[in-house]
Amino acid sequence: MSDDGHQYNDSNRAFLQAFMARGALNFKEARPILAAIFTVHGKQGAETAEEDVTEADMLSYVAAANNAISFFDLEIRSMPSQVDRTRIWALVNTTSDPMTQLATMHSADEISYLKRLLDAMFETYNTPRQEIMAITDMQAIKLHKNLSESQANNTQDGGMTQNSAGKGLTMADAERTLKSFVEEGWFERSRNGFFTLSPRALMELKQYLVTTYNGPGDEGEEEEERVERIKNCHACRELITVGQRCPTRECAVRIHDVCTQNLFRALRERNCPKCKAEWVGENYVGERAVTTTEAWLKGRRRSKGGARTSGAQQRSTQLADEEGAGEEEEEEE
Ligand SMILES: [Zn+2]
Ligand SMILES: [Zn+2]
Repeated sequence: MSDDGHQYNDSNRAFLQAFMARGALNFKEARPILAAIFTVHGKQGAETAEEDVTEADMLSYVAAANNAISFFDLEIRSMPSQVDRTRIWALVNTTSDPMTQLATMHSADEISYLKRLLDAMFETYNTPRQEIMAITDMQAIKLHKNLSESQANNTQDGGMTQNSAGKGLTMADAERTLKSFVEEGWFERSRNGFFTLSPRALMELKQYLVTTYNGPGDEGEEEEERVERIKNCHACRELITVGQRCPTRECAVRIHDVCTQNLFRALRERNCPKCKAEWVGENYVGERAVTTTEAWLKGRRRSKGGARTSGAQQRSTQLADEEGAGEEEEEEE
């Protein structure tokens, strides 16, 4: 409950409804909503301006909403944006596994497709060489078929994969499903045509991603030897899928762009806090791991001259070829 001790009322209900309709909000987006609510339900009947809504107001309404929805195993959680640190609040399911939850809105074949997309983002395109953690349209559509039933059966969560015996989706269905994942707020699509998990999806799927993609490590194995595909920012300790990486390939230090400033100011040196390598700031996590490479830029230049699709196909081939992607600059034309 909010600290002025009032009962859960119509204002709180209106806020929760607005929140649920959107799924996720930052303070800037919440301000006009709360201003409108305060204007209607205000004691003096005076209009409340957006600027008069404080972050404390928002926190108080989030707290009241959380009391109301906890019975339904829902919670509004927050996480700073990886890009600019603005806090994002999102409605998260606290108990049921997110895949089960998605199954209420999607067919087994679509869920199985989502799993292939996540595998691509966090395994195929998330290697020690390139931690892209994003997938292009072309790569995403190519995964429409369910080629690896045996592989799917190896994953920990048997419940879902048992349903995934289907052959997969048609390309048109894959395209439509991909679009619905964006509309439902699970994926975001960048200007360069990469799909990534939205902040809301990261909040919801964090545990799933860690369980699925970070190896538990064998008995007696040193911590360093474990597969850690999902990493946290060294500075803020939040999940990182977009940011910078240590130039030393074996070093696990990853830092959000915005987090580098404070960290290196505090350290008084631009060196990796762990391995002490000079932090050049040109090694990336996220789509920049691709879009800053010679291969990508060459593809770009080519696609500007020729048909757009050929450029996209070119890029997708380059990415699919893991050995060639990025660092070998003497790639074949
Ligand atoms: Zn950070
Ligand atoms: Zn390092």
